[in-house]
Amino acid sequence: GGGDAIRPEHLDAMAARSMPLCMRGLHLALRRDHKLKHMGRLQYGLFLKGAGLSMEDAAAFWQSEFTRVMSVDAFTKGYAYNVRHMYGKEGKRTNYTPYSCLKIIMGAAPGAGEHHGCPYRHFDESHLSALFGQLKLERADRDAMAAHVKGRNYQLACQRHFEATHRGYEDAGVSADGVGNHPNAWTAASMQYWKA
Ligand code: SF4
Repeated sequence: GGGDAIRPEHLDAMAARSMPLCMRGLHLALRRDHKLKHMGRLQYGLFLKGAGLSMEDAAAFWQSEFTRVMSVDAFTKGYAYNVRHMYGKEGKRTNYTPYSCLKIIMGAAPGAGEHHGCPYRHFDESHLSALFGQLKLERADRDAMAAHVKGRNYQLACQRHFEATHRGYEDAGVSADGVGNHPNAWTAASMQYWKA
């Protein structure tokens, strides 16, 4: 929080350069399939809330995607409540907190057709190396990230991804303190960097 509000029309650009791999993957899956299963909706929906997407914009965004594969009525009956619930507007009014890296890494692994989780932790080696290939990273960065994964230092791999894609962030006055501990910290630091 604290930053400028983000809008649904910003999310594609954010996913491309200002989301860690977990959230980038969820965004791309949602845009491709126009649906996400329960765990993915929670992980990504709470992240978007933490990034400053308002409840009204979140509702409009999820509806615009889901109604490409279902009726507005089916969305309203099956999913609109979910969105309001994430913002604490329904049910027990629990104020759901965006998930930390530890929670995501220690959480249930994604099954078939699911896209939640941490790619460093939950992807197999070939899937992960294909993903690293798509990212157009320099060889040294890719190798360092793969070595961190092998050592089960998933959060260090994620920090390295940030460093590799935000060169000179320290000189730009950007603090990467929470990067590797919380997906929203990764995104906040990245957005500060690209604005700087
Ligand atoms: Fe997401 Fe955290 Fe995994 Fe990075 S380390 S991909 S931010 S869960």
